[in-house]
Amino acid sequence: EERILTQNFTPEDASEYSLRPKRLSEYIGQMKIKEELKIYIEAAKMRSEPLDHVLLFGPPGLGKTTLANIISNEMGVGIRITSGPAIERAGDLAAILTNLQENDILFIDEIHRLNRSVEEILYPAMEDFELDIIIGKGPSARSLRLDLPHFTLIGATTRAGLMTSPLRDRFGVIMRLEFYSVEELSEIIKRSSAILNIGINDEAAYELGRRSRGTPRIANRLLKRVRDFAQVKGNGFIDFHIAKDALDMLGVDDMGLEHIDRKMLKSIIEKFSGGPVGIDTIAASIGEESDTIEDVYEPYLMQIGFLNRTPRGRIATKLAYEYLNYSLPE
Ligand code: ADP
Repeated sequence: EERILTQNFTPEDASEYSLRPKRLSEYIGQMKIKEELKIYIEAAKMRSEPLDHVLLFGPPGLGKTTLANIISNEMGVGIRITSGPAIERAGDLAAILTNLQENDILFIDEIHRLNRSVEEILYPAMEDFELDIIIGKGPSARSLRLDLPHFTLIGATTRAGLMTSPLRDRFGVIMRLEFYSVEELSEIIKRSSAILNIGINDEAAYELGRRSRGTPRIANRLLKRVRDFAQVKGNGFIDFHIAKDALDMLGVDDMGLEHIDRKMLKSIIEKFSGGPVGIDTIAASIGEESDTIEDVYEPYLMQIGFLNRTPRGRIATKLAYEYLNYSLPE
C-alpha cells in the first residue's frame, strides 16, 4: 500500500537536500537539544578538541541527519556519512576510520543495525581512538594497534532500545528528538515555501502543519504535493481551501492519519475489543511488518494519545474510540 505519510525517506524526498537547514540558528524547534549542543560545540571549539560522541534517537524524518550536518558546519570540520547496514565487515569500518581527518565527524545512521564484529572495532576507536587489526592468518597472525585521528561519532537510531548497552554507554551525549508542534511545522513549511518559491498563506501553512504527523520530512512532502494541486486546480498559490481540498484528496485526515492508521486502530477496536493486543497479532491482522508498526505508525499514534503501550499489548484509547466514532465499551 502506498503511503504518503511514511516518515521514511522516499525518492520523492530527494529535494530535501536543498531544504536542509545548514546552521543551528536555521534549525526550527528542538529547543532543548539546540541549547545543549550550542554549549558543547562552543566548549569543544575553545579547547580545539573534537565534540564528544553524540547519539541522536527518535522516529525517522525528525532531523537527525540534518543535525549531524549542522554540527559539522558549526564545528568547521568534515563529515563522513554512512549507515549501519552499509558497513558489512570490520575491514569496511577500519578503512573509513583510517581515512578520517583530525576532529572529523563520522555519522552512522541506523547504528543499531551494525553487526557485532563491526561494533567491536568501534569500542576502542570511540574510547581511545585506537584500531586493533589482525594481520595474517593462522599461527602467524598478529595483532596490530593503530592510532586513529581524534573524531566524533554521531550515531542515529529510531529506537535506542535496539542498541547494545556497551555501544550506547560509549556516547557522552545522548539526545532524544521530539515530534514537532503544529506551529513549528508551519514555520518549517513557510521556510521551505520561500526556498522553493511557493506562495502560501499562514492558514494554509498551519493546516499543512496540522496534518504532518509532527514530522518535518512529511511537512515538506505534503507541501510539494499540495503545490501541484494548487497549480492544476488554482493559480498556484496555496490558500486554506486549496490546502484542505488537496489533503482530503490525498486521504490525510485532520489528525494526520491516513487509511493504514485508521485500519490499525479499527482492527484493535473491532477485532480485539480495544486491546490489549500484541504487536505481532496486530501486524498479522492488518498485513504489515511489526517493525514498521513500532518504528513508524505507533510513535505518532501514542504521541496524539490514540494508542497506549502496556506490557500486555497495545490498547486503543478513549480518544481513538471517539475520533473514529465508536461507542465506548462498558
Ligand atoms: P532523519 O535523519 O531524522 O530521518 P532528516 O534529517 O533527513 O531526518 O530530516 C528530513 C528533512 O526534514 C530534512 O531534509 C529537512 O529538510 C527537514 N528538517 C528536519 N528537521 C528540521 C528542522 N528542525 N528545521 C527545518 N527543517 C527540518
